[in-house]
Amino acid sequence: MFSAIKGFHDILPGEVQKWQFIEAKARKIFEDFGFSEIKIPIAEKTELFTRSIGEATDIIEKEMYTFPDRKGELITLRPEATASIGRAYIEHRLYENNRVAKLYCIGPMFRYERPQKGRYRQFHQINVEALGTVDPIIDAEIIAMLNHFLIETNINGLELQINSLGCKDCRASYREKLKKFLEDKSSDLCIDCRRRICTNPLRTFDCKNKVCQEITSLAPKVLEYICPNCAENFEDVKRNLEQLGVSYRINPKLVRGLDYYTRTTFEVITDKLGAQNAVAAGGRYDGLIQELGGPDIPGLGFAIGLERLIPLIPKDKCFSAPLYLFIAPIGNAAKDRALQLANRFRIMGIKTEIGYEGKSLKSQMRWANKLNTKFVMIIGDEELASGRIIFRDMESQKQEEVEIEKIIEEVKSRKRNNLK
Ligand code: ATP
Ligand code: MG
Repeated sequence: MFSAIKGFHDILPGEVQKWQFIEAKARKIFEDFGFSEIKIPIAEKTELFTRSIGEATDIIEKEMYTFPDRKGELITLRPEATASIGRAYIEHRLYENNRVAKLYCIGPMFRYERPQKGRYRQFHQINVEALGTVDPIIDAEIIAMLNHFLIETNINGLELQINSLGCKDCRASYREKLKKFLEDKSSDLCIDCRRRICTNPLRTFDCKNKVCQEITSLAPKVLEYICPNCAENFEDVKRNLEQLGVSYRINPKLVRGLDYYTRTTFEVITDKLGAQNAVAAGGRYDGLIQELGGPDIPGLGFAIGLERLIPLIPKDKCFSAPLYLFIAPIGNAAKDRALQLANRFRIMGIKTEIGYEGKSLKSQMRWANKLNTKFVMIIGDEELASGRIIFRDMESQKQEEVEIEKIIEEVKSRKRNNLK
């Protein structure tokens, strides 16, 4: 017997309706905010990711699904979407027709991680990117859009945290200060963080080790060292968020695992998923497009982790449209008629099911009950001969005989009244 690959998972009917609900909400809201969907390939040349994400990151160091294709060229299953969207933006010169390109995409990502709750090897993200402006109102706009989307999903207990990482210039001098601080404490740090001092000192803030966390909580914070321009920029973002009624907390330890981030960074955290508490994360990446060989165009974006968001949807929320009609045919002639009728109802947009295999009326009624249908139509040979069928309201348990010729009109009008 086969089972799915470790860390890959099926999303079964019943569960899938939650995914459809979330994706439909995202599409509607993002389009209202002026974003358009883009579909990008699931694999890219490996170099695209190594170049953009940064050598000393979890993704590049240990998480990529990389393999040679049949000609020996290294390709990688996308671990995130921003690099691919950046590549598409440059390749198709999307900057020529769009002053600001506002894009989103929905789909699977792949990271070779240790599978656990909220952490998979194939997982899904909704990604949003806006390329083309440094204007801090777009930082606030994007965060407000994420905030609105989360409110619309009815999920409680989320906290928005924000920080600024400064620009390329002030970040470099801060990095040196942080390095110095960490070097003095290096003997107490974990092996990974000791290595990070040289490769990517900001990553020490992300370490899950308790001692490292205590040390970094005493470390100089990037916000205290950002240049006046970056500080003003951050003030603008905060002021706009306040004016839009978006509540946030400043988390001076918030850094992103990927190298390309600058200035505004943010995360949405839940208190319900243990260690895997980041539901969404993003920020500005003003140097990325140039780094990928494109023009010097700024950008920012975020990613929502769907495997972390969907379990937080309230349990009592109902997703799938209920069954309206179950047609129970008794006998072969009735079965053909049932199929014709069901087809007509379905074409009219009425959710209809048929009892298959000519089972007994009792067994079909049990089945109809299980499917939680609103009405049942019973067609037997006798009823067919008299041109009438039995129409049963499952809630009131009342039933009546209706002429087959009139049944379509009857169901249509009930449906209309039902919808009023
Ligand atoms: P973490 O610190 O939890 O590993 P990350 O910083 O690697 O997260 P990002 O690269 O910022 O995550 O990805 C954005 C979002 O994608 C995360 O906030 C999370 O919701 C989701 N995500 C990341 N990795 C996984 C995974 N392996 N399984 C499920 N969701 C994931
Ligand atoms: Mg990670």
